[in-house]
Amino acid sequence: MNLTILGSGTCVPLLERGAPANFLQIGAQNILVDCGAGTLKQMTKAGIRYQDLDMICFTHFHPDHIDELPAILHALNWTPGFKRTKNLTLLGPKGFKTHFEKMVAPLGGVMPRPDTYQIIIKEISTVFHLAEFEIHACKTKHCLESIAYKFKTGEKSIVISGDCDYDDALIKFCNHTDLLLLDCSFIHEHKMIGHLTAKECGIIGLKAKVKKLILTHLYYEPHIESGLYDQYRLREARKNFETAILGEDFMVVGV
Ligand SMILES: [Zn+2]
Ligand SMILES: [Zn+2]
Repeated sequence: MNLTILGSGTCVPLLERGAPANFLQIGAQNILVDCGAGTLKQMTKAGIRYQDLDMICFTHFHPDHIDELPAILHALNWTPGFKRTKNLTLLGPKGFKTHFEKMVAPLGGVMPRPDTYQIIIKEISTVFHLAEFEIHACKTKHCLESIAYKFKTGEKSIVISGDCDYDDALIKFCNHTDLLLLDCSFIHEHKMIGHLTAKECGIIGLKAKVKKLILTHLYYEPHIESGLYDQYRLREARKNFETAILGEDFMVVGV
């Protein structure tokens, strides 16, 4: 499995960190996990073809995680010389079908539904089985529908937390995972309910005995220079998990 971070930022626009988006290559499958604004451009920069996507998974419905979906569907329909024929699976938490209808139906006039391929909409509760791998979900403490995902092939696994707060169920879900990509919105001094701090990220990594911990969903404070804030963040996380690293846009990690 290969993970490419396409957006290590948040809803706040930053030149160096895109809105949340991650690309996973599992065997021949091309999967996007969340797609905030600008994901198509980030994919293009990374040399990843949106035309080849098989599946898009959504952790929750906040705009910074889902907003690029209509733009992706639009591009799949209107790229000159390209006719998509393979199905596209969209996977989300409970309520996703209704959310998708609400999000895409009003665009009907400007964005005709695909007529050369099918969009398959699925909701995940605990596990979704595919031929080559499994996707597991765990409810997170962030909003009504928010979930974390675990992608599992044989002995290897990657967990993408989405937005989340500290929770024993999440620690259990991450247990011994090869790679944990974790919401690390702030340092502990600036804790916001519904998001993790660097200190909590380190504790989760330690308690869950994960092999690799990457911090993402990085917010900043207006009065602290971003490079310095990242130093504070990393130092705080490393008190409990020495090898924690900061996610960067276009970082590629294999497990
Ligand atoms: Zn978010
Ligand atoms: Zn959110």
